[in-house]
Amino acid sequence: MNDFYHEAGHVVMAFLFKDIFQIDFVTLDIKKSKEYDNLSLGGLKGKIKKDVKSLTPVEHDSIILILFAGFCADNIFKLEPLTDEFYDPTCWSPKLGDIRYSGDIKKMNDYLILLLPNLRLKQPSYFSNCIKSLHLLFQNKQVWDAITLISETLYSKENNTLTSQEIDEIIKSSELPDWWKKNKDSFLDERLKLIKTSSNKISQKKKLTWWERILNSF
Ligand SMILES: [Zn+2]
Repeated sequence: MNDFYHEAGHVVMAFLFKDIFQIDFVTLDIKKSKEYDNLSLGGLKGKIKKDVKSLTPVEHDSIILILFAGFCADNIFKLEPLTDEFYDPTCWSPKLGDIRYSGDIKKMNDYLILLLPNLRLKQPSYFSNCIKSLHLLFQNKQVWDAITLISETLYSKENNTLTSQEIDEIIKSSELPDWWKKNKDSFLDERLKLIKTSSNKISQKKKLTWWERILNSF
């Protein structure tokens, strides 16, 4: 069941960041996966919607969170309840070194290289922060219920595959979309604190909104 929670973690995070990530399907059927990509052993399939060069630092961070979400979801499933010790690199680092995560780590590094110059934290602290942030997010009932729903449906399907349309229907039947509408801004504000503001387009957008609000109040 671990693997199903792992993929469900990726799927739910990808759904939350659907502005930048397009889900094609998720599968744990190796044959189905190889139709898509000859080297693939299964997992979440999809693509980044924007050109890599035009992604903002916060968007690099969001993609890294999508990639980290599998590790976090399957560890919560295995270790529940997690303690603060888990956020220490000496605890998560050996677990993350498992061969099962090598594909995710490899992709993560591609974005980490682009993000690092804009980060306030060094790499190990940043990874600890990503894990903690995802664990806090997953502790919300609406988020964990959606992860459970995806993983159980994926498990019950004969070919262990869900299309993007099926994923959409499952998540839209849950409380997650409404919850995310109310909480997305505060989640992204927290992530923004990790990034040097001068390098971030989103922070400029926020400043504008703030000025607009003041202007409107006169
Ligand atoms: Zn993964």
